Amino acid sequence: MFRHKGSDWFKMLNKLKTINKEYNFFNVISEDIEKQEKSSNGKLKGLFVSIKDCICVKDMESRAGSRILEGYKPVFNATVIQRLIDEGAIIIGKTSQDEFGFGSFSVNTYNIPKNPFDKERTCGGSSGGSAGVTRKLSELKIKHVSIAESTGGSIACPAAFCGVYGFTPTYGVVSRYGLIDYANSLDKIGVMADNLSDLKKVFDVIKEYDPMDSTSLNKELNNDNSIKKVAVIKESLNVNPEIKELILKTVKDKFGSYDLISLPLVEKYAIPVYYILAMAESSTNLAKYCGMRYGSSLELKGNFDEYFTEVRTKFFEVESKRRIILGTFARMAGYRDAFYIKAAKVRNLIIQEYKKAFEKYDLLISPTMPVIAPKFSEIKKLTPLENYMMDILTVGPNLAGLPHISCNAGFVKKMPVGIMYIANHLNDYKLMNEKLK
Ligand code: GLN
Repeated sequence: MFRHKGSDWFKMLNKLKTINKEYNFFNVISEDIEKQEKSSNGKLKGLFVSIKDCICVKDMESRAGSRILEGYKPVFNATVIQRLIDEGAIIIGKTSQDEFGFGSFSVNTYNIPKNPFDKERTCGGSSGGSAGVTRKLSELKIKHVSIAESTGGSIACPAAFCGVYGFTPTYGVVSRYGLIDYANSLDKIGVMADNLSDLKKVFDVIKEYDPMDSTSLNKELNNDNSIKKVAVIKESLNVNPEIKELILKTVKDKFGSYDLISLPLVEKYAIPVYYILAMAESSTNLAKYCGMRYGSSLELKGNFDEYFTEVRTKFFEVESKRRIILGTFARMAGYRDAFYIKAAKVRNLIIQEYKKAFEKYDLLISPTMPVIAPKFSEIKKLTPLENYMMDILTVGPNLAGLPHISCNAGFVKKMPVGIMYIANHLNDYKLMNEKLK
C-alpha cells in the first residue's frame, strides 16, 4: 500500500493546482481524488498516477494535447487505465504533451510544460508533463508514477531532461487499446517513476495480453533479469563531451568493463526511416479529425472539403500540418515504393542489426539525448530538421520495438543527463535490475 504523508485530500488537490499554475504539467486535474481514494484497493492501493493526455480516461477530457479534440470525454477507459483502477491506483490527471505526440520538447501544444530544474527550459517531449510532474512530486515526497507513451522516444527524452526513470516496453507488451494513436506500428505505452521498484509494480499491472488490441503480444516475458555483458554504442558518443564523459563513467562504475560496438545502419538510417514511417502512419490517423464526429467544430458551411479544411486549418498545430503533408506525400501512388516501402525494408535491416548485437550482449548503452534540456528561446531557433535530429539516439530502439529505459546519470550545467539502456525483445525485466539504479 502506498501512503501519502498528511493525507489531507483537499490540501493535496490545492497543491497540485498550485504546482500546475507554475509549471503547466497538467491539462486536466482530477477533482475526485478523495472519492477514488476511498474505494482504492489492490496492488497499487493509494498510488497517485498521472496519465499522458493521449490515453483515454472515462469521463475525463482526453485530447492528446490538441485543440481539435477539445471537449472530448471518452465513454470508456483504455485497457491500461482499467487495469490501474482495478488495482487501486488513483488517477490524478492528464499530463501535457506535444499535440498527438509530434515533437521532442512539448512545445507543439496549447499548454507548454516547464522543466522543474529551470523554468526557462523544456521538459522534453512529447510526454513532457508526465516527466515534469514525476520529478516535482518526487521532490515533495508524494508517491506517484506517470503513464506515458513513446513512438520515437517520447518517454526516454523527457525522462532524461527531468532526471527520472522512463521505461518503454517491448512493442505489443502493453495494450494500446484506448490510446489516441500517433503511429500504430511504433506506439508503446510505458511508465515513468522516481524509482525502479514502483515502476516495476506498475508495469506488472499494465502488461498482459489484450484481445482488444490486434497488435497485443501473447508471449511471456523473460524472467531472467541478469546482466552479464554490456556494450556502448560507439556512434552515440558523438555528443557534447561532458555528456559523453558522464555516460562512460557511469557505465564503468556500474559494470566495470564494457565493449564499444558500432551500429552503422542505425546511425545512418534510423532518423529518415523513422520520420517517413511515423509521418505516413500519423497522416492516416489524423484523417478522422475533421470537425464532424467529435472535438472542435465550426459552423457547417460550404462543401465538405471546404468545411474540413477550415476546421483542420484552425485547430491543428503547424507541426501536425507539416506531418500530414509529408506523410501523405510518402504514401502517394507513384512515391510509395520509393519512400514508404523502402523505409519499411530498411527498418527490417535495422532490427537485424540490433538482433545481431543481442547475440552477444544483454544491454546496449548510449546517452538518451545528445544535449541537456534546451531553453525555449533556443528551441525557437531550430529548423524542423534540427528538431528531428534531436531524436537520433532514441528512434533506433523505437523502430525496432526494443524495450529501453532512460535513467539519470548525473548533471551537466545543473541539468540532468539521461543514460539509455536497451534490451532485446521481451527482456524488459533486465531494465528493472537494481544495478541500473
Ligand atoms: N520526437 C519524435 C517525434 O516527433 C518522437 C515523439 C514520440 O515518441 N511520440 O515523432
